[in-house]
Amino acid sequence: MKRPRPPRTESEATLFAGTRHRMTTQRRQVISALRSARRYLTAQQLHERLRLKRPRIGLATVYRTLEALRELGLVSTSSPRLGEAAYVWCTSEHHHHAICSRCGRVDDVPCKAGRNYERILSRGLGFALQGHQLEFFGICARCS
Ligand SMILES: [Zn+2]
Ligand SMILES: [Zn+2]
Ligand SMILES: [Zn+2]
Repeated sequence: MKRPRPPRTESEATLFAGTRHRMTTQRRQVISALRSARRYLTAQQLHERLRLKRPRIGLATVYRTLEALRELGLVSTSSPRLGEAAYVWCTSEHHHHAICSRCGRVDDVPCKAGRNYERILSRGLGFALQGHQLEFFGICARCS
């Protein structure tokens, strides 16, 4: 997926600059929590994590912030098999996720396979590739 967006090193404060979304302290805290989590979290789960330190942040704020991030392509959403939509902070380059089956940690895996498949699919099937999705499941370095 192509996502025009600022680099992930940019601070939360300027993420919404030039968009129709307004950055607030609470939204910044939501984003910061999601960024450091490195795993798929539903709005509920993220809200629970935040509540320990930031009891004033409401679930609605979490939902709205995630929605804004999704619109801006700053998060990936999980496939429907996991039930309620879950979100993970994401980089701008095309990549896939290695998901730990034990702790749920998500690591980014760079991918250059698109070109190869484009060739294979177009020669073999006359198929015009527009994109692909891939998820890796296994045990992360910390858990093994
Ligand atoms: Zn990612
Ligand atoms: Zn793990
Ligand atoms: Zn890929």
